[in-house]
Amino acid sequence: MAKIVCVLYPDPVTGYPSHYARDGVPRIEGYPGGQSVPSPHSIDFTPGHLLGCVSGELGLRTYLEGLGHTLVVTSDKDGAGSTFARELVDADVVISQPFWPAYLTADRIASAPNLKLAVTAGIGSDHVDLQAAIDAGITVAEVTYSNSISVSEHVVMMILSLVRNYIPSHDWVTKGGWNIADCVARSYDLEGMTVGTVAAGRIGLAVLRRLKPFDVNLHYTDKHRLDESVETELGLVFHESASSLVEVCDVVTINAPLHPETEGLFDDRLISKMKRGAYLVNTARGKICDRDAVVRALESGQLAGYAGDVWFPQPAPPDHPWREMPHEGMTPHISGTSLSAQARYAAGTREILECFFEDRPMRDEYLIVNGGRLAGTGAHSYTPGDATSGSQGTMSF
Ligand code: NDP
Repeated sequence: MAKIVCVLYPDPVTGYPSHYARDGVPRIEGYPGGQSVPSPHSIDFTPGHLLGCVSGELGLRTYLEGLGHTLVVTSDKDGAGSTFARELVDADVVISQPFWPAYLTADRIASAPNLKLAVTAGIGSDHVDLQAAIDAGITVAEVTYSNSISVSEHVVMMILSLVRNYIPSHDWVTKGGWNIADCVARSYDLEGMTVGTVAAGRIGLAVLRRLKPFDVNLHYTDKHRLDESVETELGLVFHESASSLVEVCDVVTINAPLHPETEGLFDDRLISKMKRGAYLVNTARGKICDRDAVVRALESGQLAGYAGDVWFPQPAPPDHPWREMPHEGMTPHISGTSLSAQARYAAGTREILECFFEDRPMRDEYLIVNGGRLAGTGAHSYTPGDATSGSQGTMSF
């Protein structure tokens, strides 16, 4: 029988919800491009309920214990003495979400000789040292597309909130003010601006599609060029490099995975090539931006605003400078874990586990590493290597 260790974010401070703001979530029949939604044999949870926290257990306990397996669920993930580190040593499967990542460093992989499968309940497996997983023959899988649209909606929200100066204006209301001039002195229309995405995969393309009706000029860069028909439909301008893209954009959104090619991409040098007063929105991964370069650019006015929901490490320490920097629109890492998204990636996690325990192949699009090499989506979008270094500095609160 197998041991599954599942690392999830803590329950709400007010306790696990007994009721919800709405009575359900819409059922999505398929994803853009034709990929089908997760299709496990069955599920043991109610879509629309909180599944990504410890008490939600991704709805997996009945299924796994019914097969005689052991399920350990914890949010205590950082440091050598953590529950995760202790339980990992004889685990067969690890499940983790990028919002509250269980960093699977090379050392931790070495401490887990039974480990065969690391599942990302969501998208983005950079919290796993992919090179170490390749070397150890561990399969890494994620629930591709499960929350891509969720993130694209968050990106559009953040672009609009920065450009229109929404958060500071809202703050004046809650402070009892009616300070129109204070609010609008930094407020613009998005219409007519040039918006570019670094990467036009599932999220990046969905962002471009959602922004098209705002009458903006749309640009992108990616490792592979989109079909000509898509470029024509959306009026896209392609750039061979991020450097060429950022020079012409008023707004840049980052939608690439974190891997050795993208780690630290937005440093002082690249940010200095952006137009003065550009906005930068990063919901991809914190490490794609140089933390202190972003702060410097906001303080100098080189950037007019920075928003995103991804930090490094996660959870971000209380003194992380992105909490206090000027003109920021940060949230904790939430864009891909709406209740709607949770229902999809919980079902996708169940599907991956059913394949694993029934010895059936997983969908190719879910695979990042398999058989000692990058596979499936991983072979397309990632490069081998390690993006987990520095995660040892994570604190727990
Ligand atoms: P996709 O795999 O569909 O798209 C990723 C795109 O990035 C691909 O088109 C890929 O190119 C491109 N890419 C990879 N490396 C580079 C590079 N060096 N320069 C330019 N483009 C590059 O993934 P998604 O769109 O679904 O997700 C993207 C990322 O967003 C995830 O990896 C994750 O880090 C993050 N994410 C964040 C979430 C959140 O909650 N904030 C939730 C979900 C995802 P190609 O395939 O053409 O080679």
